[in-house]
Amino acid sequence: MGHDSATTIRCPEYKSFMVKRKGPFSEFYGCTNYPECNGKITLVSDITAHLLKKYF
Ligand SMILES: [Zn+2]
Repeated sequence: MGHDSATTIRCPEYKSFMVKRKGPFSEFYGCTNYPECNGKITLVSDITAHLLKKYF
């Protein structure tokens, strides 16, 4: 436990890889250069959870 799992997904804002991280609702991909780079890819399920919390 502890280490984020590295992926082969590239950060859209930086030329580095993303790592899988756990958010409050679901998993998302964050940049390995965080906090220097704030690049982030949120999974659809995470967005859905956000919308549900916001509007229902
Ligand atoms: Zn980045």
